[in-house]
Amino acid sequence: MSARVIDGKAVAAAVRERVAGEVTAYVEEAGRVPSLATVIVGEDPASQIYIRNKHAACEEVGMRSVHHALPAETTENQLLELVGELGLHDDVDGILVQLPVPEQIDPDAVVTAIDPRKDVDGLTPTNAGLLAHGTPGLIPCTPAGVMELLRHEGIELEGAEAVVVGRSKLVGVPVARLLLAKNATVTVCHSRTRDLAVVCRRADVLVAAVGVPRLLSNDAVKPGAVVIDVGMNRAEDGLCGDVDFEAASEVAAAITPVPGGVGPMTIAMLLVNTLEAARARV
Ligand code: NAP
Repeated sequence: MSARVIDGKAVAAAVRERVAGEVTAYVEEAGRVPSLATVIVGEDPASQIYIRNKHAACEEVGMRSVHHALPAETTENQLLELVGELGLHDDVDGILVQLPVPEQIDPDAVVTAIDPRKDVDGLTPTNAGLLAHGTPGLIPCTPAGVMELLRHEGIELEGAEAVVVGRSKLVGVPVARLLLAKNATVTVCHSRTRDLAVVCRRADVLVAAVGVPRLLSNDAVKPGAVVIDVGMNRAEDGLCGDVDFEAASEVAAAITPVPGGVGPMTIAMLLVNTLEAARARV
């Protein structure tokens, strides 16, 4: 069996097109342009690329984006001050602090300082709490992208066995909560899980968000499962996911590739969140 490849680029393009139309309508109605403020501390090359892509995506859908580049030696207090100012700024709808930050800065302190109404990454304790409470505010972009892919593919989640590998605040936990909200039966695995492949093989929907290249192979995939690979790992032979794509494709019904699966969805959902944050302020 050869799995259907889920085209994240195409789904993300459809989301961006929808957002572009909604931005035009918002601008006409509200008389202002939705605006994203990004903050980066230091020169991490991967972060610089992510930020450039986010700005290009904003421009493409007609949103404004303003970038704040701070030197690597910025103190936590200086960053907190900027985040506080952006929270008060009327022209700013969304605030995104690109992680990781240099080691002198506590990332949790910075995320907590973001105004939850402008928290387009959905990572503040307030938005995480709302998600846990079942009344979501702004949802983290990558998990929202995973759910949009499943929705687009028409995957039935009600009563389905879903296994999420990874329990980070950024991906694993919010994905698990979102799947639960869709009435899937959810199991969350992590580094201490025993017999990982056996647990994963229960899954009708398997989501891998680990950060270990090709950790999951065909023995972890139930025949006919849908596999969503969030992993983005640099291996010797290039970029790869947490799932062995070739091996898993032999048994899965559908699978996301890396690159070109979940990755493009993250930026698309950032645009969705920025527009939602703008709408909520009017
Ligand atoms: P993270 O914070 O490092 O969390 C990794 C999770 O995987 C942890 O819960 C960890 O368990 C678990 N884990 C580690 N080794 C394991 C093993 N051998 N077996 C089972 N579980 C294991 O990573 P993250 O931020 O969630 O990111 C996960 C992956 O997604 C990375 O490759 C990252 O680059 C990628 N990512 C992609 C996007 C995108 O846009 N496509 C966005 C975000 C992240 P413990 O909790 O027990 O330590």
